[in-house]
Amino acid sequence: MRIGVLGLQGAVSEHLASLRKAMKALGLKGEAVWVSRRKDLEGLEGLILPGGESTTIGRLMVSTGLFEEVREEARGGLPVMGTCAGLILLAKEGDEEVRRTGQPLLGLMDMKVVRNAFGRQRESFEAEVRVEGLRGGPFRGVFIRAPAVERVWGEARALAEVEGRIVGVRQGKLLALSFHPELTEDTRMHEYFLELCRGGPGASP
Ligand code: GLN
Repeated sequence: MRIGVLGLQGAVSEHLASLRKAMKALGLKGEAVWVSRRKDLEGLEGLILPGGESTTIGRLMVSTGLFEEVREEARGGLPVMGTCAGLILLAKEGDEEVRRTGQPLLGLMDMKVVRNAFGRQRESFEAEVRVEGLRGGPFRGVFIRAPAVERVWGEARALAEVEGRIVGVRQGKLLALSFHPELTEDTRMHEYFLELCRGGPGASP
């Protein structure tokens, strides 16, 4: 299987490394590839939108033509996991900051996102996150200027909460996380995503 990580800005190589480890853990043959041009999307069975700065990533996606292409692919069923800034890009609705910056959102998931939801004073923190459907207990979430989801509707389902805020959402083959699973040794979130890409047992919404 071939899984891509959008590599325009942000935490790219860590995701590639986690994907490779997760493939190994699941005994899957496959490759994890860097995506920076439209043609890199060819033959992908899944795509990760990494953390970084969502305004910058969004604008670079527009200028490379990846914005439209990724949106079309995802609408056509390509599994996508967005982490942190990637979660913001997946949302249909943004907060005041999103409106003010006029940043583009892919608008793929039925959720409203709040940027920097945990306060500017608290730039980063770690928390135990209980993720619905994730085997093996809570996941140690690394939050860096993290967004949260204010509400979900339609097809989207909240999978995880921290301090009463939604930090994980699933909608069919789309997965959005406020935290950075690529910054821990634990590859279970990447394994979860790979299973979703394979349409395996854990993949039904
Ligand atoms: N605060 C960033 C944003 O709004 C996201 C931070 C991150 O991806 N670590 O885009």
